[in-house]
Amino acid sequence: MAAQYDAVIVGAGFGGMGAAIQLKRLGFHRLLILEREDDLGGTWHVNRYPGLAVDIPSSTYSYSFEPNPHWSRLFAPGAELKRYAEHVADKYDLRSSMRFGTVVTGAYWEDAETHWRVSIAGGESVTAWYLLTATGFLSQPKVPDIEGIDSFGGKVIHTTAWDDDYDLTGKRAAIIGTGATAVQLIPEVAKVAAELTVYQRTPIWVSAKPDYRIPAAVRRLFAAFPPAQRAVRLIGSAVLELLMITGVVHYRRLRIANRLAERSCRAHLRRQVPDPELRRKLTPDYSFGCKRPTFSNTYFRAFTRPHVHLETTRIERVDERGIVTADGRRTDIDVLLLATGFNLWDVNFPAIEIIGRDGKNLGKWWRENRFQAYEGVTVPGFPNFVSLNSPYSYSGLSYFTTIECQMKHMDRLFTAMRKRGAQVFEVTEQANERFLARMTDRVGDSVFALGQCATANSYYFNQHGEATLLRPTSTVNAHREASRFPLSDYSYA
Ligand code: NAP
Repeated sequence: MAAQYDAVIVGAGFGGMGAAIQLKRLGFHRLLILEREDDLGGTWHVNRYPGLAVDIPSSTYSYSFEPNPHWSRLFAPGAELKRYAEHVADKYDLRSSMRFGTVVTGAYWEDAETHWRVSIAGGESVTAWYLLTATGFLSQPKVPDIEGIDSFGGKVIHTTAWDDDYDLTGKRAAIIGTGATAVQLIPEVAKVAAELTVYQRTPIWVSAKPDYRIPAAVRRLFAAFPPAQRAVRLIGSAVLELLMITGVVHYRRLRIANRLAERSCRAHLRRQVPDPELRRKLTPDYSFGCKRPTFSNTYFRAFTRPHVHLETTRIERVDERGIVTADGRRTDIDVLLLATGFNLWDVNFPAIEIIGRDGKNLGKWWRENRFQAYEGVTVPGFPNFVSLNSPYSYSGLSYFTTIECQMKHMDRLFTAMRKRGAQVFEVTEQANERFLARMTDRVGDSVFALGQCATANSYYFNQHGEATLLRPTSTVNAHREASRFPLSDYSYA
């Protein structure tokens, strides 16, 4: 029986849209893109908190084949990313394939029919020759497991569910968390709240952000002469690559570069915070790169304002009126802002139940046999399945590097399959094992193995203590392998 669709893609963020564009280029037009939210854009649709902006230069944080000359700043605000996503969806005619408010509950491979059956909440199911999951890494919000949090009598807002109607002006606010989200949010809340207490468990490495408005004349130049913007993109990519290679991947040989990055963050902190005790509290005790660092010119400075307090004592409980710390002190608040991030390893690998050949359950298999995926894309035992948010798939610092490497991989794989007149692909166990061994070996040279990461509380590490999120190679290597991997690493039928 023919499948209803050529491919089902789960997720209408930039990853899912990139995959859809690639499939269309390859001649697959019967696509269905299923999205649990009520609109496209993924992260950039869900996140709307004050201060939201990209923290990778925008000319780099975008598709290379769809440059946007209209970015207002070097680091564009979140709303521009959302508009860019809408533009891409319209230009590449993706909207007609999208279904919003549709929660995929699972997918299983029907071997006799050689297709995937995808189950949707409410009881419906659809079939497709190919299944692609683009559910994001940071898409399952984490609500902290703090005693009494449900008993709080004021307003609670997680940063992924911002309440635009709630006015923070004059309020006594608390923010839990000091990750990249909090770094953007804290200075904005500090502008309007009467009191702001920030509960920090682990400090974050923050460096200066060379953020500028892009003058209209430059934007006109980018529009009229795209190579000018490509040059800016190249410079941005090169800087990020340098940071990743020297600070993280080749730590064994280049730890001096990692130290320089730390030194530059410390100098930034010194310039902004005169009080040595406050500086001590804001200084991480783990190596740069163990955890996602970020950029900001306003974060540290916010803590020097008289109504902003940094609390580093452990939270004991939340009660109806506020937060009580382990030393018995209580802080009464009106609003509790949760910048507590996302759950990756318990619920997001994979985000939905995936059952492959012979009933193989992907989530179970990953947990029982280490997290792994060939080139961060495919898994043995799961034919015709492209898992875009896999272990070792995140390459470089801009997510668009990952997306475009994966598009290249799909191009090579589907073209090879077509040349053979095949309809089913599956990565071989040997190829997968080889790749896993190589990644494991490479991680051994990185800051994750050789740096001081024990106190970082980093989501780069899974529940077994292995750093299996980032691909520990250069992005040049990732691009090269995506377009040159041995075709014999797959079986075709
Ligand atoms: P995050 O980095 O995971 O940070 C969550 C914060 O909440 C951490 O400080 C964490 O402390 C704290 N926390 C969690 N549970 C807690 C608990 N029970 N008690 C006390 N503190 C708790 O999440 P995020 O800030 O949302 O950022 C996630 C990622 O999103 C970033 O790393 C980045 O990749 C991305 N992001 C990107 C941009 C951008 O501009 N491109 C902007 C924002 C975010 P511990 O560290 O101790 O666990």
